[in-house]
Amino acid sequence: MSDKMRAVVATAPNEYGIQMVDIPKPGIGEALCRVKSVALCGSDPGLFAGHYQNKGWPPHYPFIFGHEWSGEVVALGPETFGFQPGDRVAGEAHCGCGICDNCRKGQYTLCLNYGKPELGHRHYGFTTNGAYAEYDVFKVKSLEKMPDEVSFDEATMCDTGGVALHAVDNAHITPAGFFAVWGPGPIGNLAMQIAKSRGTRTIMVGRRERLQMAGKCGADFLVDYEKVNPVQEVMRITGGLGADEILESAGTQDALYQSIKSVKRDGNVVVLALYPKDDLVVPMDSIVIRQLHILGSRANPNCSKRLMELIQQKRINVGELITHTFDLSEIKTAVDVFSHRRDGAMKVIVHP
Ligand SMILES: [Zn+2]
Ligand SMILES: [Zn+2]
Repeated sequence: MSDKMRAVVATAPNEYGIQMVDIPKPGIGEALCRVKSVALCGSDPGLFAGHYQNKGWPPHYPFIFGHEWSGEVVALGPETFGFQPGDRVAGEAHCGCGICDNCRKGQYTLCLNYGKPELGHRHYGFTTNGAYAEYDVFKVKSLEKMPDEVSFDEATMCDTGGVALHAVDNAHITPAGFFAVWGPGPIGNLAMQIAKSRGTRTIMVGRRERLQMAGKCGADFLVDYEKVNPVQEVMRITGGLGADEILESAGTQDALYQSIKSVKRDGNVVVLALYPKDDLVVPMDSIVIRQLHILGSRANPNCSKRLMELIQQKRINVGELITHTFDLSEIKTAVDVFSHRRDGAMKVIVHP
C-alpha cells in the first residue's frame, strides 16, 4: 500500500479540490478505513462555503469534510476490540469522549467535551477530518458493522437515517395516529418511513419532486404548500384535531410556525433543522394554551444498529433516495447537482 491517498482538501471557504496527502495512521481505539461511498449531507455545501465557521466547522484549514460514509476496515490501532480488517462498516459523525456526564448516559451527540480532540471527542467532517478521501481513521466507537445484504451506497444513510430515527424516537409515535413532517428532504422522508413502520398515518408537507418522492416512498397524505394552506389541510386530514406528532425538518420560519399550529393539543413537535438564525418567531400562546411539547433533536445517538436492521429488513427504502453517484474527483459537480437539486437530486454519493 502506498502511503499517499487522494482526498478532497478544503484550503479556504469555497476553495477545495483533490490533493495527494498522507494516509493517516490509526491511534488508540481507532481503525484505518478504506472509504467506499460518501453521501453529501445537507450541511456539506455550507461547510465547503465556510458558512459555519462561527460554529468552529471547520476548526482550521486545510480540512477534509464528509461524514456520511461507509467502507472497510483496513488496519487497527491498539485497543480496538471486536473489529477485524475486512469488516464492512458504516460511520457515525459523532464520537463522544465517553467520560463526561452526557456520554455516560448515552447522549454522546451532546458530549460536554465537544470539539476537544485531546479528550477523545470527534465530530468527523466537522471538527475532525472526515471521509471525502480514500482513507481515514475513525474511533471504532463510531463504526457500525453492516449486514451483508446492505450495499455500501445504502449504508451511507447510516448517519442521516439515524438522525431521522432519533427524531422519531423523540416524537413518541402514536400507533394509528397522525404524524406530519414539514420538509420532504432525505431526513424528513426517512422519518416518515420509520414512523409509518410504527403504525401511524403519515402526512408530508412540501412541494415539487421531493413531495412526489415522499408519495413514492409511502406517505399517506401529501400536502403541497404552494397549492393549499398547510395548516388548514393538516387540520382537515386529521378531522380538525391536528397531528399527534410533527417533525419540523424544513428549517424555515414558515415551516416552524405552521408545524406548531398544526399539532394536536398535548402533542409533540420535534425540531431538528439547522436554522439560519436563532431569533425565529414561535406562537407562544398556542404552545401554552394547547400544552404543546416542543423538542430539539440532535443527531443520532445509539441509532445505527437499529437503522441498519430497518434497511436490512426492508422496512425502509433508502435506495430510492439515492439519485446520483459520482467519482470523488467530480466533487464540485456533485456539490452543484446536490445543492441546486438538479434532476430531482435527493441523495448524491461520491466514490473515493
Ligand atoms: Zn449529515
Ligand atoms: Zn462526552
